[in-house]
Amino acid sequence: MQATSERATVSAIDVTVGREIPTEVQQVLDTAGRLVIDGVERDRASDGGSFDTLDPATEQVLASIPHATADDVDDAVQAAARAHADGRWRALPPAKRARVLLKVAELITRDASTLAWLDTLDHGKPLRMARGEVMAAANTFRYFAGVIEQPSGAVIPSAAGRFVYADREPIGVCAQIIPWNFPALMGAWKLAPALAFGNTTVLKPAEQTPLSALHLLRLLAEAGVPDGVANLVQGPGESTGQALISHPQVDKIAFTGSTEVGKHIMRTAADRLARVTLELGGKSPNIVFEDAGDLGKLARRAAFACFYNAGEVCTAGTRLVVDAAIHDELVAKVAEVADATTVAPGWADGAAMGPLISAEQRERVAGYVATGRDEGAELIAGGAVPEQLSETGFFYAPTVFDGVTPAMRIAQEEVFGPVLAVQSFTDEDEAIALANDVSYGLAAAVWTRDLGRAHRVAGALQAGTVWVNTYGEIDTAVPFGGMKQSGIGRELGPWAIEAYTQPKSVWIAT
Ligand code: ADP
Repeated sequence: MQATSERATVSAIDVTVGREIPTEVQQVLDTAGRLVIDGVERDRASDGGSFDTLDPATEQVLASIPHATADDVDDAVQAAARAHADGRWRALPPAKRARVLLKVAELITRDASTLAWLDTLDHGKPLRMARGEVMAAANTFRYFAGVIEQPSGAVIPSAAGRFVYADREPIGVCAQIIPWNFPALMGAWKLAPALAFGNTTVLKPAEQTPLSALHLLRLLAEAGVPDGVANLVQGPGESTGQALISHPQVDKIAFTGSTEVGKHIMRTAADRLARVTLELGGKSPNIVFEDAGDLGKLARRAAFACFYNAGEVCTAGTRLVVDAAIHDELVAKVAEVADATTVAPGWADGAAMGPLISAEQRERVAGYVATGRDEGAELIAGGAVPEQLSETGFFYAPTVFDGVTPAMRIAQEEVFGPVLAVQSFTDEDEAIALANDVSYGLAAAVWTRDLGRAHRVAGALQAGTVWVNTYGEIDTAVPFGGMKQSGIGRELGPWAIEAYTQPKSVWIAT
């Protein structure tokens, strides 16, 4: 443990080793600078502006991307509006639309390696994790293909001479704005349900990770999604994103990102009462009771819950809320796991954690670490740039703070990096109170062998998802979303119908 040194010691690998980009990935990189509007790939923004996307492990430029202007955004929204109005997608027979989305799933599986490489290069995550996420993206399309042919709506009992039914119809043009932490998967989470329920879309990936979305759009076209139904604009939030959310013909905004931007989107949408679903930040508690079992295993799971994807996960278990009776032993083990984590570029064999997304993000994380120290928390692992990876790339060591109290900023604010805050409790009520004492409510976990306690605590936690004796599981069939300031609405599962359709009641006098 290197609590006070400038550089943390972790196992690490030279950033230049093993970065052999496969030919098919290079081909995508060579043509990555494209927007997709009305089925046509545009290699230039209307004013010729562009921005670069970087590999966060090497800081090399991967591709130059057209920076979509308000005019480009308008073209994309108009294309989506025309495609909605003429019914070229929503009016197709359901079996045909289902077949198209199943085909998308098949094509994602076919190109899984390419998509995984694109996300690893663009985001930095370990290749094997990127591959798992791409397979989950394929499953998302497969699941929502199956939803298309399910019965919907209801016949409502009414008086004689009246026949009343309520059915659902698509909302219309959906602006879909996604973050940089799971680029391909977030694209699938947005596109698949929107298309399944008959909407048209304009997708804007995060400016840090534009690559895999273009490939996804190409696969949609190859599968038979008609031109104009799924459009792609690229650019930063303040310009391209802002033009998209304020466009009068955008009927719905589906957003995943920070709580701050989510609030701004809701305010903007309020002007024209556009629909919103918001999947925002978190500060998820991972509560471990004394009876939870093997401490070595629990320590590995707790570290994984926080450090997966370099902690750049909205559901990351960033607060370890631990029973005082096992605190010392468990926390020492968690620190050991943190120190032993292999931080390396995503393509390197054995990489467990890649770099952070950007220099700014690393600054932000380092700023929170400084705050934690200043506020009196005890740094027991990490807290610095790994020595072997200090020259190039935005790496940061897995970091653990013990002795964190609710008043500290590292107990309350989302760091979005590999920083674990440990809090301890002496009874169940205190554990629940600590867990709920944040403005967020995305996810939580409880580890105990006491069945009654598991149910009681799960019931008392203010979180959209609660895991018991596990962490981080997500399935396309299970609703996902947040309570409190973690969001509005639910994605995935049958609940996604609420996000992408609106009810219509029809009264017939017979
Ligand atoms: P992070 O802080 O993790 O980058 P953000 O919430 O800033 O998260 O970004 C998530 C997504 O929201 C990105 O695609 C970003 O470009 C977009 N975004 C940021 N600001 C705005 C805005 N004012 N309008 C629309 N989209 C935005």
